[in-house]
This record gives sequence, structure tokens and C-alpha cells, in this order.
Amino acid sequence: MKVLHVSTECYPAAKAGGMGDVVGSLPKYLKKHGIQADVIIPKYATKWFHDKAYETVFSGSFYQRGSYIQYAIQKVRSSGLDFDLYCADIPGKFDRDSIYLGWDGHGFHDEIDRNIAFQRVALSWLNDESTNYDLVHCHDHMTGLIPFFMKYGYEFRSLQQMPSFFTIHNAAYYGQMSWNNRDVLPAFEDQYAGLLDWDNTIHSLATAVKCATVVNTVSPSYMEEIINVNSSLAYLFRGEKHKCIGILNGIDNDEWDTKTDQLIKYNRKSSWVDFKQKNKEIFAEEYGLDPNKPWFSFIGRFSEQKGVDTLAPAIQAVYEQNNNACFVILGSGDKRLEHQISSIETPGIVKTFIMYNEAIAHQIYASCDFILMPSRFEPCGLNQMFAMRYGTIPVVRSTGGLKDTVVESAEDGTGFTYQGSNSYELAEAMKRAQSTYEDHNNFKKLRTRCTRKNFSWDKSAEEYANQYKKLKHD
Ligand code: ADP
Repeated sequence: MKVLHVSTECYPAAKAGGMGDVVGSLPKYLKKHGIQADVIIPKYATKWFHDKAYETVFSGSFYQRGSYIQYAIQKVRSSGLDFDLYCADIPGKFDRDSIYLGWDGHGFHDEIDRNIAFQRVALSWLNDESTNYDLVHCHDHMTGLIPFFMKYGYEFRSLQQMPSFFTIHNAAYYGQMSWNNRDVLPAFEDQYAGLLDWDNTIHSLATAVKCATVVNTVSPSYMEEIINVNSSLAYLFRGEKHKCIGILNGIDNDEWDTKTDQLIKYNRKSSWVDFKQKNKEIFAEEYGLDPNKPWFSFIGRFSEQKGVDTLAPAIQAVYEQNNNACFVILGSGDKRLEHQISSIETPGIVKTFIMYNEAIAHQIYASCDFILMPSRFEPCGLNQMFAMRYGTIPVVRSTGGLKDTVVESAEDGTGFTYQGSNSYELAEAMKRAQSTYEDHNNFKKLRTRCTRKNFSWDKSAEEYANQYKKLKHD
């Protein structure tokens, strides 16, 4: 069975968050279940694309806002990936030195035009007789109009019967646009225009939920939350409940391996104590922290969603209690939050990195004792899984995928959890973590339970494969 993943991210070619990790690793694991999964992403002008060789497999042109745009679909030769990666070279749209402008996916002034352009190009290629995919798998709102155009677009008639899968990595971003943009869309059967509509706008996420054959979120609890929350979109999800499922994300255990990871300073031989201590000492030396104290860390987008605003007060509360912890924070995003976080930088106690840096992220997972995830909502969250695999214990707000992966319990827990989205509860959870750290035996047991957890894609990839196969036979 052949599946094409259509996405704006795919690690390591293009990654801004968890979606990039997923699209860059799921295809490899699908192969083990008899699925050939290829990926198409836009061709960005970022570093990864510079030194690659390309083979053009399809080309064409389309008209958008008064001019013709000539595009090409290219296969990336020797990408180093375990699956075929294609990129859509659309001049003037994606040939820029960042994937998005800012973290929220709204960024560039022509975000609407370029997302439509990418979807149109992917559809045209899929519709061409040179391709023979059995199913299309779209990711987030940037590709949310594809399931509609497969069914009702005049130019893509050969796709009418093809099933489509739509994965929601984050339901807070809609890809919403005014109906004034209708002329930018490919032509479609007029009587179905209502399927594009939600709240009197063209709404990419809602369209995908209505038109895709199967819709999934990246954890079961997140699907439950978006169905049950009190919002306009929840009505839509409730109406489409029969085809909505939750499949927990996995991680690539080969990429995230303490024994072989090239981005960390000290690889694990066998002992976890030795691995954590050595990495902590190296990091401490480089950034002036105390390796004899417990270390709390945070890695991620600085946004409301991630609860970054609750970090600084909680850190202060924990620090003021007994001056017996260090804190490492890596991230960027909302300028107000960047300012708030950099202002708590304190030599020897709080180290902040206001940036996106893959190597530092790996080094934090390898050297810290705890990772904080105070998310207001969390579709899945990958950090807690990477962290556990590297012997770093999660302290999380129990929501979405965090609820599905982290349990607090004296006998068989894997971290510390709390309910309310506020700095007080976060600080209390951190204090519980801190006292467990002091109790060496219990702390070691907890860490062993974390490192023994297996979040590999194996199980979830099988779930995707089974869903695909069901659609093929329906
Ligand atoms: P998101 O909602 O941002 O997609 P996830 O937890 O699903 O959150 O995935 C985040 C991914 O991005 C992880 O691989 C994490 O390590 C990485 N990441 C986030 N921020 C940074 C950063 N500043 N530097 C390096 N990696 C980061």
C-alpha cells in the first residue's frame, strides 16, 4: 500500500515542532507494517536544502492573484532518510530562510496564498497519472483543504474515490480566511461551498474535519478534550465523532539513543548514573551551574499554550524555599515571554537560552533531572517522551498527551503531575520532585521506570497502518 504524507514539516529537512518529528519518523516505522509512505513538503531556502541533489518528477503552472506561477516537484536524492522525500519548489512562496515567520504558523503576510499554492501543487501531482498512491495523509490546517478538493475540485477528478487521513497536531490553529479569498482557490463544485465554511469564513481545519475519511489527534485524551470542550468547533467534532480517533505519537528510538546520540557530549556506556552525572558535569562546567543540585529544565515554544508564563513565579518559589536547585530554559517565541524568561537569568542558578537549538535540546535531556511541561493544553507533547528516554523525569500539567503518558504514583509512577494551570500547583509539583531527588533510592527507582518506558513508534505505527488498510478495503 502506498501513502503520501503532505506536510509543511519533516525532520530533519524542516522542523518547527512536534509535527516535524512525527512526519520525519512515522514513515520509517510504517514500512515495517507493509506501508510505503512517501512525504512531500515545500522546498524552503533553509540550510538543509542547500547541498542536496534533486530530480524533477513533475512540473506545471497555476494562476494566482494576477500572475502565473511555474512550479516543480522534486525528489530529494540521497536525503539520508528511510523513505522518499519530495519537495514542491514554488518560486516566491517558500524559498525563504525560515519555515514560518514566528511560531504560531500565522507569520508571513502571504500565509494564505502559499498554503493554498502548496496544496494545489500537491493535488495536481497526486492527480497526475505518474503517481499511484492509495491514500493521502494530511497534517494540520496548512493541508486541510486537500480532502475537500480531492472530492469536489474540478481539476482533480481522479482523486474522488481516494481516502484521506487528516492528523490534527494542534487544533488551536485553524487556517481561517475570509471568503474574499475564494478566487485564490482551485475551482470546485459550487453546491459544496458550505463544506469550506465555518463561522462565515473559509476554515481549513473545519473543512478537513468534515471532508477527510478519518480524522485523528495525536493522543486519545486530546481528542476527548476537543470534543467535550465548550467551543464552536466542538459541535463540529461531536457531529463527526464516528470518524474521529486518537493515536498517541511515538518517538524515533534510533534517533533518540543515549548510546549513539551525536549531539550530546557523553554517550551512555551502560550505567545511567554515570551517563547523567557526566553530562551534568560537562553542562555545568560550560554554563556555570552546580552539578550537585537537582536541575529542572524547560524546552519549547514560548506561548500561552505551553504555560510559559507560569514558569518564572514557580521557579522563584522553589528557589526561595531552600536555594537548592538549578533551572535551564531553552525556547523562543512570544516576545513578552522571552523578556520575562530572560529577566530571571541568574548566574549559577538559572540559565536561559532564548533560541531554537537542536543540540542544546539534546544536551538538556541528557543532563537535567526534571523537565517541566506546564502546558494549558497539549495535543501530545514529545518532550516528556524524549526526556524519559534520556533519564529526565517529567513534571507535567495533566492534560492531553501528557495525561496519557505521565503518571504520578509512589509505586509505579513516571513523574509528577498537577491539575490547575497556575504557578502555585506547578511549584508544589516541583517541590515534590525535589524531595524525591533527595531520597536517592526512590529517585533512582523512578528514573529506572522512566528509562524503561518504551514510546517507540512501533505500536502507534501499527495503529496507523491498520487504519489505512481498513480504508483501502472499505
Ligand atoms: P509543539 O507543540 O511545539 O509541536 P511538541 O512537544 O510536540 O511541541 O514538540 C516539540 C519539539 O520541538 C521537540 O522535538 C522539542 O525538543 C523541540 N523544540 C521545541 N523548542 C525547541 C528549541 N527552542 N530548541 C530545540 N528544540 C526545540
